[in-house]
Amino acid sequence: MNTTLCISSIRPGSPFVALIEKISGQNLLACYQCGKCSAGCPMAPHMDVLPNQIIRLAQLGMKEKLLTTRSIWVCVSCMTCNSRCPKDIRIAEVFEALREMVLRDGSRDDRLDVRELSPEARGALPPIAMISAMRKLTS
Ligand code: SF4
Ligand code: SF4
Repeated sequence: MNTTLCISSIRPGSPFVALIEKISGQNLLACYQCGKCSAGCPMAPHMDVLPNQIIRLAQLGMKEKLLTTRSIWVCVSCMTCNSRCPKDIRIAEVFEALREMVLRDGSRDDRLDVRELSPEARGALPPIAMISAMRKLTS
């Protein structure tokens, strides 16, 4: 990922940061950037912003960059990052909180509604894809 931080856009301690913490239930400042979440994430090769970088951007309150990353939709909610974090931060919940913010805004209507899938499609999809879709659906 090539992320350039624009100092004027950094808003640590902003209402946006507080909202991420409220929805996710996580203390973002506990992260000390060890990178273990990103090292174990099976979807990291497909992300434009790695999980540890998502946490850093969240700490800095970089709303625009966070809510437009592809990574928050690439995440499959497998929770591997949660199990690897030495600070017990539930990174997957932070991803979910960011998706929730985008969906609440109402600017996207392209989420998958699993109720509209045929029984055949539901049977053919990998369980992890279904779980991920369900979590995104209920955001
Ligand atoms: S594993 Fe935890 S402490 Fe380490 S970078 Fe990820 S969120 Fe931060
Ligand atoms: S929950 Fe998402 S961010 Fe965490 S390891 Fe799985 S795919 Fe990666």
